[in-house]
Amino acid sequence: MPELPEVEITARLIGDAVTGDVVETVMAPGLNTIKTFKPPIQVLEGEPLTGLRRRGKVFILDSGSGFSVLMHLMSAGRLQLFEKRASVKDKKSRLLIRLPGDRELRLREFGTHQRAWARVVPTAEVDTDEYLVELGPEAWPDPPELGPLLDSKRPLYTVLRDQKVIAGIGRSWVDEILWTAKLSPFKRGADLTGDETGALREAMIERLGGALDFYEKELTVPLPDKLPLPLQVHRHEGEACPRCGDTIEAVHYSDYVMCYCPTDQTGGEALKDRRLSRLLK
Ligand SMILES: [Zn+2]
Repeated sequence: MPELPEVEITARLIGDAVTGDVVETVMAPGLNTIKTFKPPIQVLEGEPLTGLRRRGKVFILDSGSGFSVLMHLMSAGRLQLFEKRASVKDKKSRLLIRLPGDRELRLREFGTHQRAWARVVPTAEVDTDEYLVELGPEAWPDPPELGPLLDSKRPLYTVLRDQKVIAGIGRSWVDEILWTAKLSPFKRGADLTGDETGALREAMIERLGGALDFYEKELTVPLPDKLPLPLQVHRHEGEACPRCGDTIEAVHYSDYVMCYCPTDQTGGEALKDRRLSRLLK
């Protein structure tokens, strides 16, 4: 589940490793991954890569061709750099960018669905791309004052993951940020006090930035299939809260789990009501 810190560290590490490399060939075995047709992605061939950056959870791979490739990993994708070219058996590959010295930049996707996407856009028009232009401000490093942004009837758990409201947070980091700020995931955005929006903003900076600091120390290229996320609450259902010792509770959805500490976040109540679960969809 790559979110802002995972996309940022990937962009930094892989960007450093590939910038200046001239692309040899590009292949797109994921038939539905590339959403644009003109120009074809082979426009990158013979041109140097000039950088890899990020907006929200989207990678922007710039090239000397004057075109950039936007890539969204969705829930199960990875962008990885390998020292050897993929065997034809790597069914996870959606996009293969071959570089000198047998190296290969790969967009891969785990699981059965093909949801990750890529688009080729003129570099000069990246900022006005139809997807990127809809994104809210970045959740890190310097998110704006959150009160006006979150002024919504939707619960924090939902509104914080809305990329049009604020960009970069998903199901892992929303649990961590809300726990750090001691806020209920069920609280409506519009009901936050000034102190609470301040605490939430601080928690966002602290946790997303802290994750990045952690990755800077821990990770090098090649990046592993599974990144070691420094989580304290998410994926820790049933364990002791690292802050107060209460048991971390969870609400289960069909394909993910929301975790929180009742003592710190919901006035001691364990909220397992299915109607609440539906509310958070
Ligand atoms: Zn706690």
